[in-house]
This record gives sequence, structure tokens and C-alpha cells, in this order.
Amino acid sequence: MGKIKLLGKTLAELKEIAVSCGLPSFNGAQIAQWLYQKRATSFEQMTNLSKTARQRLLDQGYVVGAVLPSEQHTSSDGTKKYLFPVSCSLGADGAMEDSVVEAVMIPDGDRKTLCVSSQAGCKMGCKFCMTGRQGFHGNLSAADILSQFLYTDEAPQLTNTVFMGMGEPLDNLPEVMRTIEVLTADWGFAWSPKRITVSTIGVLPKLRTFLDGCKCHLAVSLHNPFPEERASLMPVQKAYSVTDVIKLLKEYDFTGQRRLSFEYTMFSGFNDDKHHADALVRLLRGLPCRVNLIRFHKIPDFPYTTVPDPLMEVFKSRLEAAGIICTIRASRGEDIFAACGLLAGKHNNPQL
Ligand code: SF4
Repeated sequence: MGKIKLLGKTLAELKEIAVSCGLPSFNGAQIAQWLYQKRATSFEQMTNLSKTARQRLLDQGYVVGAVLPSEQHTSSDGTKKYLFPVSCSLGADGAMEDSVVEAVMIPDGDRKTLCVSSQAGCKMGCKFCMTGRQGFHGNLSAADILSQFLYTDEAPQLTNTVFMGMGEPLDNLPEVMRTIEVLTADWGFAWSPKRITVSTIGVLPKLRTFLDGCKCHLAVSLHNPFPEERASLMPVQKAYSVTDVIKLLKEYDFTGQRRLSFEYTMFSGFNDDKHHADALVRLLRGLPCRVNLIRFHKIPDFPYTTVPDPLMEVFKSRLEAAGIICTIRASRGEDIFAACGLLAGKHNNPQL
């Protein structure tokens, strides 16, 4: 009999499971507390459940579903990268594959932000990304994603999260939405959606479901305002044009609590000219948003290099002069291959 993971189940589902095992439904609420507030990794730790209750859950094939990190590395700047060994589904046929995913904890003053993975590898094939080069190894379950929140050393102190690790979150939307439900529910982590940012390259059909289904912030990976140039870097552009993504975003309200940002990794000689800045301004006109300019970390067999800081400042000033809020992202964790675009780099590419 296959094992059924409890991690990722909602309070209502846990109560139903308790009842289906012949237990009182309040046992479901106790389990939720053990899973999401006390970070229990086994039934033995759930000391206010009777021995009979724990045994019945085991007999019915239930497990906690915790995935503990197998390795961790700390950068000279305090950034920490955790490796989680997962066994994940390759899709509809139910085939499972063992893989390793990474979560990165980025400290910044009082903040501790966790960058989480939603898939093992990725199908999207963005040319500048080591995860993309690795190919797709499967969707993570909500249990796999929540394990990244629950079992790092900093778990109790996390202040924010970004779904910007390995994978395209909207390509695994059901499990990502389930994770968000647990993170924001009173019976779960009780986080405000303002602490959560989901990043996407613009998988159009799923974007509306995401925007309608939660109030979390959204970050869109843009990287070039010109369709043909963007398509040369990001195959997704051929299926879902960024122009259509922006059209859809204009239907939503980003003037209140929910924030919209665009990620723009800068590549020397590719997207750093003033005509790119001007096209970006035209593209984003009328959309309350900010642009994050990101330093590129060189990867093997990729023609472009990073843009020198003074030129990034010039680009930033041009956007700001047109009224766009713009920041240059500090680079973190490069020495442990935890920086943007490098996840799965060292682990899967020993030549790095
Ligand atoms: Fe996938 Fe994101 Fe990398 Fe593109 S940048 S290949 S969507 S992980």
C-alpha cells in the first residue's frame, strides 16, 4: 500500500482522515498543530494523541511526509543553502523519480527570507538558468515544499518567502496553492499573504488561477521587453507573449496590499541599452509595479556576461526618470552557488 503524506493536508482534510480512522475529529486539529506549529516529523512526537490513534494512522498508510535536509552550506555573507532529497512525481502517469532540490535562506537585517523550490529541475528551458539546463525531474508535493519551510535551522524565525528556487511555480500550481493555503491559514502557519511572493516567467493560463486564488505578491521574470529577443532567451515567450501577460495583469489591482514586480536580469550587450529601458517603460505604462534589476552570474556555455554596476545605475536612472520604482538586487550566496540562476548548478554540474 502506498504511503499517504499528512503534511500539506488542510485542517478539514485532517479531521476527515481522523474520522475515517475511527478517531474523534479533534484529533485532526491536534495533528495540524503538531505538523505546522510544532514541526513534528513523526507520530511518536505527537504525544497528546493516544497510542491507539497513532497506530491506526500508521495502519491506514498515513505518514507525516517530512523531508529533512541532507546537506547545508553557509556563504561568507550568511546566506545558507539547504539540499532536500525528494522523490517526486513526473506527471500524470504517477512515475516517481529521486532528486535533490534546494532552498536558500537569505538573512538581511531583521529579515530572514526563504527562497523555495517548487519542482525538481524545470521544463521551461530559460537559457541563462542552470536549473533549466538540468531538465525536468518532477513536481514537488506540498509536503516536499512545506518541508523546506519547516526543517531548516531558521524555520521559527523566517519572515518572508519567495517561490524563486528551482522550477516554475505556476507549472505545479495545485501543490503551490495548497502550500500557500497552509502557510496563510490560522490553523497552519498563520502568515499574511504579504509575506509571500510567487515568481513566474508568465505561464498565462495558470496566472489567472493564481491571481484569483490568493493575495500573495507576484514577480514576473521579464528580462527583455522585445518579443523576439526575449524568445531567444526564454522559450515560454513563443507560447505566452509577455504582452498578453501584461494585458491580463492590467485587469488586477496592484495599488493596494498586493505587490507586482518585474525581474530583469541584466546581460551585457543583450538587454542593457537605453532603447531597452525605453521599451520597458512603454510596456509597463499604466501598471503599478516595480522593476528589480538583477546581476547576472556567469554560467558555462552562455555568451553573455554581467553588466558593470555603473551601467546598471544608468539603466536604473532611465527607468526612474520615467516614474518606475527600480532597485538593483544585491547579489547573495554566489560562493555556495545559491545565487539567482545557479541553483542546482554545483550539485548537478561538478565542473562549476
Ligand atoms: Fe525554470 Fe525559472 Fe530556470 Fe526558467 S528561470 S528554467 S522558469 S527555474
